[in-house]
Amino acid sequence: MILDADIKAQLNQYLELMEGNVRLKVSVNSDSVSQDMMALVKELTEMSSKITLEEAQLPRTPSFSINRIGEDTGVTFAGIPLGHEFTSLVLALLQVSGRAPKVEQSIIDQIKSIKGTYHFESYISLSCHNCPDVVQALNLMSLLNPGITHTMIDGGIFKEEVESKNIMAVPAVYLNGEFFLSGRSSLEEILTKLGNVPDASTFAGKDPYDVLVVGGGPAGASAAIYAARKGIRTGLVADRFGGQVADTLGIENFISVNYTEGPKLAASLDGHVKAYDVDVMNLQRVTHLAKKDMIEVELENGAILKSKTVILSTGARWRNIGVPGEAEFKNKGIAYCPHCDGPLFKGKHVAVVGGGNSGIEAAIDLAGIVNHVTVLEFLPELKADAVLQERLYSLPNVTVLKNVQTQEITGTNKVDGITYIQRDTGAIHHIELQGVFILIGLIPNTDWLEGTVDRNRFGEIIVDSHGATNIPGVFAAGDCTTNPYKQIIIAMGSGATAALGAFDYLIRN
Ligand SMILES: Cc1cc2nc3c(=O)[nH]c(=O)nc-3n(C[C@H](O)[C@H](O)[C@H](O)COP(=O)(O)OP(=O)(O)OC[C@H]3O[C@@H](n4cnc5c(N)ncnc54)[C@H](O)[C@@H]3O)c2cc1C
Repeated sequence: MILDADIKAQLNQYLELMEGNVRLKVSVNSDSVSQDMMALVKELTEMSSKITLEEAQLPRTPSFSINRIGEDTGVTFAGIPLGHEFTSLVLALLQVSGRAPKVEQSIIDQIKSIKGTYHFESYISLSCHNCPDVVQALNLMSLLNPGITHTMIDGGIFKEEVESKNIMAVPAVYLNGEFFLSGRSSLEEILTKLGNVPDASTFAGKDPYDVLVVGGGPAGASAAIYAARKGIRTGLVADRFGGQVADTLGIENFISVNYTEGPKLAASLDGHVKAYDVDVMNLQRVTHLAKKDMIEVELENGAILKSKTVILSTGARWRNIGVPGEAEFKNKGIAYCPHCDGPLFKGKHVAVVGGGNSGIEAAIDLAGIVNHVTVLEFLPELKADAVLQERLYSLPNVTVLKNVQTQEITGTNKVDGITYIQRDTGAIHHIELQGVFILIGLIPNTDWLEGTVDRNRFGEIIVDSHGATNIPGVFAAGDCTTNPYKQIIIAMGSGATAALGAFDYLIRN
């Protein structure tokens, strides 16, 4: 039995929602993964009379495809889709059976209208929380368009492919054999990358807003909801709705919810914003802000949006160390997400740069997967909470280097080592290793505001207690501001403050 009682109970409920019949084609041989895959597909056929099974020869073994009767859909799993991919399996079964996907009709029409032949292959790991979105998006595209196929490939099983393609970060998507994208991507982002991009004309003629929110993380979502609830014309423009939350695995400090996961919270934010009359413009990057008779916000495609007030909530991104090799080996041994990419370094030696909470959490997590973890901390002491340090020091395969400065990440076509300076002696050391996880904090996304709103020396937008900046009518909230403590609930609170501040400003002006 490959499915435990809990999973089976969940699956039973989902399979009852199947509408039509589904044919699984399975390609296996005698290895143990094949046996497990066969056990899984057999259990599926036993659980639903709508699922039937056929042995076949597919391009990869072991793998199985999920098809309509008499028609291949192009949806293939080269791996056992449990772990984080369990939902991908369930959705594929339901959608192939005829159940409608929960996607806007305009997007469905967009997918159906794509012309040409697109063979997608996505390399994933079952512990990667960023992978299912990509797998599910590509599966749906395959189902809706006969010119598109998609195979999910578990990198842990198809190790040779992963090594020959030098894949060191997942998800890594290939299109018709060529590298296409890596990292978490939504269906809309994939479609945009395929060339379905709205141009400036899409935004021409939009009436000015009362409040225009820039950024779609917790701060922006909260600001948009608070503004829309005042009955004023509200817009929200975001490079990527969800923000950092979309990249977060477990969240245990979102008060009143014991535990949730980033993508789930991001989906609730989306649903909550869309429950109001907010003009959401996702996948649009803002490049410039100017105060004229109104405030003008320019998009990357040249379009200009006008508003009486603007709330900046552009959040933050991972900070880089700024050493040679860092940019060159990104996704070739340099990683930022231990949950996603940790399994690709199984049995290897990796470094974690950064001794704060996120670095030490990553080191503890990685120590359970890799052969050895070396932590490099710039300061003489680790900054992580005592409880995390205690756990770290109890692990046998971790070395902690303090008071060290990373000088270079070395390699040829992928990382092969790290060079550091022992700061008190000036001695230079080199360690041979295969991966470097960089966790040294965040940097605010405010570079584009150069010469406009006032920022402090860290680049954070300076705000007062009402979220107001130095420019009348321009407010800011969340991680991009001087508000201390960068957390979801704090970002949401400051988004609400900024929206109420903007409303107050509108009444008075
Ligand atoms: C891995 C990880 C784990 C975390 N875990 C937790 C946790 O457990 N609990 C907790 O409370 N906090 C956690 N945090 C912190 C939390 O996610 C942030 O504090 C919070 O998301 C900040 O919200 P924000 O809206 O200010 O910014 P962000 O979430 O960063 O959102 C910024 C938004 O602005 C958009 N944007 C940026 N630049 C532009 C531009 N030029 N044009 C248009 N749009 C733009 C982005 O696309 C995004 O939509 C975690 C963060 C990370 C990275």
